Order: sequence, then C-alpha cells, then structure tokens
Amino acid sequence: MTLAPTAPARPGVERNATPYLYGTELGLIAEVLASGQYGHSDVTETFERQVADFLGVQEVVAVSSGTAALHAALVAAGVGSGDEVLVPSMTFCASVQAILATGAEPRFVDIDPHTMCTTPDLVQEALTDRTTAVMPVLFGGRAIDLAPIADLLDQRKIAIVEDAAHAFGSHDRNGRPVGASGHLTCFSFGPIKNLTCGQGGAVVPRNPEDADRLRTLRLLGMVESAATRAASTTYQVTGTGFRYPLSALNAAIGTAQLAHFEEATAVRRTLWRTYRDALAGLPDIELVDVDVDRSVPHLCVVKVPDRDRVWAEMRRVGIGVGVHYPPNHLQPAFERWARLLPATEHLAGQILTLPFHQHLTEDGVHRTVAALRRALTTGDAR
Ligand SMILES: *Cc1c(COP(=O)(O)O)cnc(C)c1O
Repeated sequence: MTLAPTAPARPGVERNATPYLYGTELGLIAEVLASGQYGHSDVTETFERQVADFLGVQEVVAVSSGTAALHAALVAAGVGSGDEVLVPSMTFCASVQAILATGAEPRFVDIDPHTMCTTPDLVQEALTDRTTAVMPVLFGGRAIDLAPIADLLDQRKIAIVEDAAHAFGSHDRNGRPVGASGHLTCFSFGPIKNLTCGQGGAVVPRNPEDADRLRTLRLLGMVESAATRAASTTYQVTGTGFRYPLSALNAAIGTAQLAHFEEATAVRRTLWRTYRDALAGLPDIELVDVDVDRSVPHLCVVKVPDRDRVWAEMRRVGIGVGVHYPPNHLQPAFERWARLLPATEHLAGQILTLPFHQHLTEDGVHRTVAALRRALTTGDAR
C-alpha cells in the first residue's frame, strides 16, 4: 500500500484543536529513521538543549509525555505514599493520575473564576500537615504567581510542581519565562499543545541534583547512558525508575516546531485577541482571561448560560466546541477525595471551549462567534 500524496484538507472550525506542521518535520524524522537510533539519543539531547536555551534555564530533562513529566517531577521532589498534593480539580485528569501514581493522594483546591487558576489564598487554605507538594495548573497558558506564600511553602518544605502543559512560551508578570521560576516546571509536548513533539514532555529541574535524579528516573533507574552501557559487560540500576524517554523521532518533531515558535506565539495571540474583540459584542458571555500580552494562549474558554444546549447547538452546525474540563473531584475514580469547591462546581456547567488552533483563520473566528450569538439568542446557531 502506498500513501496518497494528497495533503489533507486544512482543518477549520470543526476542530477544537489540532496540530500545525511547518513542513520541516518530515525531513528531520527521516534522518532519525535512517540513523537507526529511535530511543533517547543525541537528537533528544539537542532538543533538550534547544528548549533550555529558549527558556533561559540551565537544564531541561525531556521525557515521553506531560503526564510522565508530572509523575517524575513529583517523585524527584520526594512525594510518595502518605503525602498529599494540592491540585485544582479544574484540570486534565492526567494531573491527578500523576499524583496517584506516586502513592500520594490529591487534595483538590478551588480556582479564581476569572482566570480558572488557583490562587495563593486558595492554596494556603487547603494546606494540611500531610501536604508535601502543590501542583498549580497554568490554565489556558497563564502563569501563576505563588510568591505571596513562597516563604510559607518553603518553611514547610512543600515543593511546587507546576503543571505548565498549557503554558509553553508564556511569561509571568516579572517578564520571566514559565519554567524559569526556580520550581519544578512540567511541560507537555502532546499533539495539540503550544509546542508539539507528537508525544513528549519535559521537566525543568530546580538544581543539578534534580536533573540527575530525573535522568535516572526516566531511564528505569539506570545511571549510565546507552552508549556507556554498550561499551561495558554490565550496567547499574541504582533506584526507582520508569520507562519515560523522549524518542528521537519525537524530539525531531519538537526541534522542527521550536524553530517556528515565534510564529506560533504570534498566531495564537492574534487569534485570541480576535476572539476577545468579537466576543465583546455578546453581553451574556464572559471570556476566561489568559493574560494574552504575556502568555502564549492555549485555550479560548467562554462562560455561557445554558452551556449544554449551546454546546449541542454549536456542534449541530459543525463548530468544534469542547469543555475543559469536567471537574476531577466528581469523577468516579477520584470522588473519594471530593471536597466542596464552589467556583469549580459553578463553572463546570458554564464553560465552553471555542475552536483554537493555528490553522484557524480570522474568518473562522468570526463564524464561530456568529454561531455562538445565534445559539445564545435564538437557540439556533445556523
Ligand atoms: C495535556 C495535559 C497534561 C498531560 O500531558 P500529556 O503529554 O498528554 O501526557 C497534563 N495536564 C494538563 C493540564 C494538560 O493539558
């Protein structure tokens, strides 16, 4: 069988999110295929170096996914059974599963309804004697500043492990890149994230010890590189480990994508601002603010009345709306850790994610907003 050489139709408003290729990916993947080195390789290490330079940090440890990054970062921070990790319920279930994978338990925290992010106050209120880590989720790409409680967390030896899956390329209020905060920061390079490797992720370590630990953790607890192992009759397993390498094939995609990240930034900001301006004419809706001047927006989320009906109406006319996210504390697997989270529960029935990806045109944005206006006013989006 041969693959038809026809390009797929350009995705539009029917997709909520989709990757965007710049055209250089295939050549770099072909080079890796020809090299015969598909696991962690010098291509992976080049990508790590490029990401570290982009963020202006000493080191980056690339792993196989954002979930792997969160799990390995928690383990590197010493989180394990008997511990509690604070996490917003309003996140992808991966954040919670990463906590459970360490043997620790999640303690769900509420969010600010305007940003969908947790706040220093909400975190402080939720701390317990068993809290050993806090996992802020940078919803939509917005940086979260826990500086007001940094000393408190430090005194209590509570680590900050940022779920920055949405926030690659964003900056905080001090102009520092997300990832350069001095905490453990975890990125996802999954298919629809701001920067994609196809699948992949990375942890920014706090110090060289974290970096060593993470490199051992991602490689089944082995300390030597593949090259060193190949030159010896034995190898050493020194501790806990997982199979979390970033494949060279995926790293090649990341390298190609990173070279065009300025374009990704500009397109995502322009699209988000276009949505913001177009939505200003709709009195019944509120846009979740991502701090677009400092962020690389990942999502465009609005709060609408009668969300389920509006969602169904938009879908019926072919607009790829979504919901980020159904709260985790109401999931069957996590309900034993449920707490009262008024803002999260209130928002759960209002949030609607509009199509947001780099193939989208300004015309697509206007069509989406027009359909939303009709769904809100007449109950008919056509
Ligand atoms: C995508 C995502 C993850 C998980 O990343 P993967 O690369 O898919 O494993 C974790 N948290 C959030 C908020 C995400 O959006």
